[in-house]
Amino acid sequence: MTARPTSLLILGGTGEARDLADGAVARFGDGLAVTTALAGRTKAPARLAGAVRVGGFGGANGLARYLRDEAVDLLIDATHPFARTMPHNAARAAEAAGVPRLRLERAPWHPEPGDRWITVETTTDAAARTPALGRRVLLTVGGQEAAVFADAASGRATTLLCRAIEAEGLPPETPVFRHLLRRGPFDLAAERALLTEHGIDLLVTKNSGGAATAAKLTAAREAGLPVLMIDRPRPAAPGPRVERVDAALDWLAKRLEARR
Ligand code: NAP
Repeated sequence: MTARPTSLLILGGTGEARDLADGAVARFGDGLAVTTALAGRTKAPARLAGAVRVGGFGGANGLARYLRDEAVDLLIDATHPFARTMPHNAARAAEAAGVPRLRLERAPWHPEPGDRWITVETTTDAAARTPALGRRVLLTVGGQEAAVFADAASGRATTLLCRAIEAEGLPPETPVFRHLLRRGPFDLAAERALLTEHGIDLLVTKNSGGAATAAKLTAAREAGLPVLMIDRPRPAAPGPRVERVDAALDWLAKRLEARR
């Protein structure tokens, strides 16, 4: 056995990162010291098992320095599939510091029979197309990207209902840009009711994947609504990746075994 517990840094901000921290603490106990890093975008993040560190590292070099200074042994990048920078920074930093790294990224959604998806490559494309496609739009792209939609819809006959965890970072409410502050998961009955209650005629979303927010796609399919679907950012970071938390826990188990 090594003298000190193995140290794991999880780059978090997702439900998978939270489940991973829970699972790692439960499965490996005192043999693994778990810290989750959060960017600090959400004012009141959900509870996390293990230690939590909030704030950026200062780019790939800053993260590499942190990995060395804190003697991090293993790194799992469980940031969101739409995090553009961190997966690449994590790849560079882990290589520079000689720390084994895994990317945990949930599988994307795929269209099913009856779906009316219009797939676009970027948020900017989606925002530009939204006013022509919908009059009453449910916008579920997260707080950071909402402003570009509010700008694109300004002065047009389109009302945006923007669902986000908190108002922090959202453009202010106006008669045509409404906030809907909710934290998932969202079930199918609630999603059906939401679409009906607000007379939604277009759903705009990123292809985040995962079960917690998939019910809106089923509800849109049932209602015959078009979905403007934003594809994942490219290129993806290089290196090993898994889609499920249990596979990440198995990767950890193998790494811990190898360190014995
Ligand atoms: P990003 O573009 O990849 O990252 C921007 C900067 O934020 C990074 O360069 C880094 O700053 C800092 N950062 C990002 N993730 C971090 C983490 N887990 N711990 C510490 N610092 C972090 O990411 P983003 O899209 O802004 O997302 C920020 C956070 O929100 C991430 O934790 C992500 O998982 C979560 N999130 C994002 C989305 C989305 O759609 N983008 C959705 C849900 C949750 P430094 O360079 O200074 O280290």
